[in-house]
Amino acid sequence: MKILIVLAHPELQSMNGAMYHTAIETLQAEGHEVKVSDLYRQAFDPVSDRRNFTTVYNAAYFKQQLEEKHGVFAPDVETEQQKVEWCDLMIWQFPLWWFTVPGVLKGWVDRVFAYGRFYGEARCYQNGIFKGKKALLSLTTGGTAEKYEKTGEHGDLDAILKPINRGMLEFVGFSVLEPHVVYAPVRMTQKEREGILGDYSERLKGIFKEEFLNVGIY
Ligand SMILES: Cc1cc2nc3c(=O)[nH]c(=O)nc-3n(C[C@H](O)[C@H](O)[C@H](O)COP(=O)(O)OP(=O)(O)OC[C@H]3O[C@@H](n4cnc5c(N)ncnc54)[C@H](O)[C@@H]3O)c2cc1C
Repeated sequence: MKILIVLAHPELQSMNGAMYHTAIETLQAEGHEVKVSDLYRQAFDPVSDRRNFTTVYNAAYFKQQLEEKHGVFAPDVETEQQKVEWCDLMIWQFPLWWFTVPGVLKGWVDRVFAYGRFYGEARCYQNGIFKGKKALLSLTTGGTAEKYEKTGEHGDLDAILKPINRGMLEFVGFSVLEPHVVYAPVRMTQKEREGILGDYSERLKGIFKEEFLNVGIY
């Protein structure tokens, strides 16, 4: 199968970097084809504006969705769009920042998930353009699992992730898998973290057999 891994972490030696490398090695060893978008190392520009396009539909007033519908995408956007179109499974590897994805990943979505190409004209959710593809959020937190329980200080992590799983991924048609969450890796011992990486590798080996969630109704 074809897998795209999008990494949004500024440090490759981090736990996120280790999970990213674990995923690449595991999936390739299983015989899958892997492409990556390592957003910091490729210096992906997360600012969405006229520079998304090499054409100008309306020079007097910039309306992004109209430019997306009629225009030609800049090479950095086009490259990323083609990778999403290519994959059967897309994995986002990121640390939870301010209860969401790091800005570089949000900017990647702002620029790459374009009207007319990724959604629009009733092409969303069950009728989404990427129906049949799967997506997995693989993330780390600073807070402990206890704090992300329904009654915990931060509240239910599923609810925190819903704008991402439902509003971005399911919106364009992806079937979303159970998020892979590593809570508070900083508080673990080196041995515990190594065990966690082994668990992630084991999960990935069976990832295409997993049932997907329906985030809209949980
Ligand atoms: C702007 C910002 C906003 C934030 N907002 C939130 C928030 O809303 N909620 C929240 O819970 N947290 C928040 N945090 C905390 C953040 O989520 C955590 O710091 C992050 O998830 C930890 O993951 P990391 O990859 O950065 O860990 P790191 O600190 O880089 O790594 C943890 C440890 O893993 C070790 N490691 C690396 N590779 C390996 C390996 N191969 N084997 C074993 N160990 C290894 C590293 O050496 C390190 O000791 C925020 C942080 C920032 C900077």
